Amino acid sequence: MHCPFCSATDTKVIDSRLVADGHQVRRRRECTLCHERFTTFEGAELVMPRVIKRDGSRQPFDEDKLRGGMLRAAEKRPVSMDKIEEAISKIKSTLRATGEREVTSEMIGNLMMDHLIELDKVAYIRFASVYRAFEDVSEFGEAIAKLEKK
Ligand SMILES: [Zn+2]
Repeated sequence: MHCPFCSATDTKVIDSRLVADGHQVRRRRECTLCHERFTTFEGAELVMPRVIKRDGSRQPFDEDKLRGGMLRAAEKRPVSMDKIEEAISKIKSTLRATGEREVTSEMIGNLMMDHLIELDKVAYIRFASVYRAFEDVSEFGEAIAKLEKK
């Protein structure tokens, strides 16, 4: 990363340690040009991409919204809270791993469906029918066909 003092592009890490129960990495860096030292903190949670909605507007990533959607779909189904949380955690990892600053709400919806189809077929169909707002019976048929292929 760039040196905050002289903007040189080459800095070296002179010390690195885990902090905040291992959720952050604290790095002590030194600029190879002006030799100033500075500290950076890296934490995975800090880099969730923003969400591009269908109308083109941008919103911060909202984990509660994701959880709400999953819970609604799985209501009265034999899906444990642990499984839901695990799916949410995996979706977040996948989104972070894209390295993108912004991802589409469509991508998030598709990831949710990928996980729901593994967790519970009924929850998957419920979510897919609401999320995709099926226009006709053939679209609904496609979702069922995807189920049968599994
Ligand atoms: Zn410098």
